[in-house]
Amino acid sequence: MTAKNRQMQSFDVMVLGAGIVGVSTALHLQRLGLSVALIDRKHPGEEASFGNAGIVQRNGFVPHAVPTQPLKLLGILFGRSSAVSLDIATVFRLLPWLRQFHAAGSARGVEAYSRAVAPFRAFAVEEHLDLAHATNAERFYRHGGWLHLYRSETAFQEGDFERQYARVFGVAYRELSAGDIGSLEPALSAQGLRGVHWPESCSVSNPGAVIDTFWRHFIYEGGGYFRADARKVKQESGGWQVEGELGTVFARQAVVALGAWSMDLLERLGESYPLAVKRGYHMHYRPLSGASLSRPVVDVENGFALTPTDNGIRLTTGVELAERDAPPNPAIIKLAKRRAEELIPLGRALQDQPWMGSRPCLPDSLPVVGPSVKFPGLWLNFGHGHDGFTLGPVTGRLLASMIAGKQPFLDPAGLSPLRFAT
Ligand SMILES: Cc1cc2nc3c(=O)[nH]c(=O)nc-3n(C[C@H](O)[C@H](O)[C@H](O)COP(=O)(O)OP(=O)(O)OC[C@H]3O[C@@H](n4cnc5c(N)ncnc54)[C@H](O)[C@@H]3O)c2cc1C
Repeated sequence: MTAKNRQMQSFDVMVLGAGIVGVSTALHLQRLGLSVALIDRKHPGEEASFGNAGIVQRNGFVPHAVPTQPLKLLGILFGRSSAVSLDIATVFRLLPWLRQFHAAGSARGVEAYSRAVAPFRAFAVEEHLDLAHATNAERFYRHGGWLHLYRSETAFQEGDFERQYARVFGVAYRELSAGDIGSLEPALSAQGLRGVHWPESCSVSNPGAVIDTFWRHFIYEGGGYFRADARKVKQESGGWQVEGELGTVFARQAVVALGAWSMDLLERLGESYPLAVKRGYHMHYRPLSGASLSRPVVDVENGFALTPTDNGIRLTTGVELAERDAPPNPAIIKLAKRRAEELIPLGRALQDQPWMGSRPCLPDSLPVVGPSVKFPGLWLNFGHGHDGFTLGPVTGRLLASMIAGKQPFLDPAGLSPLRFAT
C-alpha cells in the first residue's frame, strides 16, 4: 500500500454497521444529498439481518414477555421449551435488565410500547417497498401476510390481548379455524389448531439478498464502503475517524448502527445503554413434494417460525439468553425441528450447521434512535430486537432526516436515547 493510496477520505456522515439498519440509514442519507461512508468488518448483511424470518410486521403491539407461569418456567429450566432457552450464568448477569424487561410487560408498559411503536409499524411495509422499488429488490418481496398458529384454545384466547391493540390501531386480522388454516396453507397439519392471519404484513424470500441489493444501489449511487473495525473509531478534528483496510475515513458525523455490537464502541467512548442479546438460530430444509408454504407461519407457543425462502423452508427459533459470543447450542434447533415436524413434514437439512444470530434488545423492546446524549455529531440507531428487519428502513429514514436537519416525518420522542440517560 502506497502512502498516496492511504490518503484520508472525507464524508459528511459515516454509518457504522451495514445490517438492515445501517444500510437503510445510509441510503436515506444519500437520498438527502449527503456523502456517506458505510463501515463494516464484513460484507453487508451477514449478521442478524441475514438469518431472520424475513417478516415485515404491520402488527405487534405487545412486547415479548418473560414467561412467569410455573409450568412454562420448569420447561425452560429443563431445556424443553423451544420458545425460550437459558444459560443460567447469563441470566444472573442479566438480572437488572430482566427486571426492567419484566416491568415493561406490565399493562402500563405495554400501553407505552404500543403507542411508541404504532406509528413506525404503520409505515414499515411502505418504507420497505419504497427502498425495494428504488433499488430493484422488489423480486424478493411477497404479499399475503403471515400466520400466527395456536395449539390450544387458552393460548388463542391469550393472544386476544394483541388483537385488542390491533383493533385500537386499525390493523386488519382474521381469526382462523383449523379448516381456514388448511385452506390458506394446505401443507400444514391443521387439526386442532387455531390461527390468526395478519394480511397487511409482508415478507421476503431472502433477507440477506435484500440487504445486498440495497447496498449495491448505495454503491452505484456513489456511496463509500470500507472494511474497518468500528471499535477503533475516535473523535478527531471536529468529527469522527477510523482506520480502514484501505486508509483513513473521516466524517463530520457518525451513526452507530452496530446491532448487538453497539456497546463495544459506545462503552469505550463512555456512553452506556442497557443492551442485551437474545440469540436465535435458523436451518433450511428442502420442502417435500406438496409440503411448501406460501407465507411465514409462527407457532406462538413454541416460538419458532417457518418461512418459505429461496433456499428452502427456513426454520427460525425463539429466544436463547446466552452470552453473545458463547458457542452455539445445536440442541435448540433440534427441539424446534421436532415441534415443527408436528405441523409440516420437513425434508433434508440443506446446511451442515445451524446459523446463529444476535438480536440487539433494550428492555423496553424499542430501539434508540436519535442524537447521542454525550457527543455532538454522534447519532444512534440500534436495539431493534425482534423487529429490526421490519423497522430498519423506517428508523433509517427518521434518523437520516434528523441528521440532515429536516423535519422528521414521524415523532422521534418515543425512541429517544434520553430515556436511558442517567
Ligand atoms: C432467528 C431470528 C429471527 C428474526 N426474525 C425477524 C423477522 O422476521 N422480522 C424482523 O423484523 N426482525 C427479525 N429478527 C430481528 C432482526 O434480524 C434484527 O433486529 C436486525 O437484523 C438487527 O439489524 P441491525 O442492522 O441492527 O444489526 P445486524 O444485522 O446484526 O448488523 C450489525 C452490523 O454491525 C457489524 N459490526 C459489528 N461489530 C463491528 C465492528 N467492530 N466493526 C465493524 N462492523 C461491525 C456487523 O458485521 C453487522 O453487519 C430476527 C432475528 C433472529 C436472530
